[in-house]
Amino acid sequence: MKIYLVTGNKHKVGEISALAGNDWTIVPITSVINNKIEIEEKGDSFLQNALIKVESFKHLKIPLIADDSGLEIDALGGFPGIKSARFMDGYPYTERMEELLTRLESEENRKARFKCAAVYYHPTGVVLAAEGVVEGTIAFEIRGARGFGYDPIFVPEGYNMTFGELGEEVKSTISHRATAFKKLFSLLRLFFSSTNTTGHHRS
Ligand code: IMP
Repeated sequence: MKIYLVTGNKHKVGEISALAGNDWTIVPITSVINNKIEIEEKGDSFLQNALIKVESFKHLKIPLIADDSGLEIDALGGFPGIKSARFMDGYPYTERMEELLTRLESEENRKARFKCAAVYYHPTGVVLAAEGVVEGTIAFEIRGARGFGYDPIFVPEGYNMTFGELGEEVKSTISHRATAFKKLFSLLRLFFSSTNTTGHHRS
């Protein structure tokens, strides 16, 4: 079954497709709409923003998934958090990461976490949601070129390397997105085992 992913981020399509395995085919929503996705993320949590993303396309009456995610840095009061995508919007990530490292200069508390809220929207109106978190620390410099976004400054707990160095092999097992989508796909399996594919409960 095809599920349409509300994102313009091709890295997310790759990560989520790998997590869906053979059960579902993850298709970027951009393959069925003509316009670039422009959604105002005006919620005040990752979950609200993920819901806003699916709700923007519910009129299409197709199965949808979306996530909203970001990096919370304790010494910056949780910043950039839900503003992770919009922080220094338009600048390359190397410059955004340099700016965060400058703000953390001489800061000993490097604790941070990536968070992700993942949601599924079924054309009957049923919504399923799950969240994932990966704890870690902010490195003292940019390291590695794999992954995307803030991966090269995030060292997950239990590792010495950044996500930018560790890459997909590790991210696919421990990342915030991996955890959230593994939970979401388990919920989906339960949902589809108690309903037929049109979403009506079996009697
Ligand atoms: P979203 O696409 O609205 O969920 O924005 C999430 C933003 O948070 C991304 O643009 C990145 O800046 C950051 N982010 C979320 N997940 C990751 C990740 O797995 N690695 C690196 N940065 C991430």
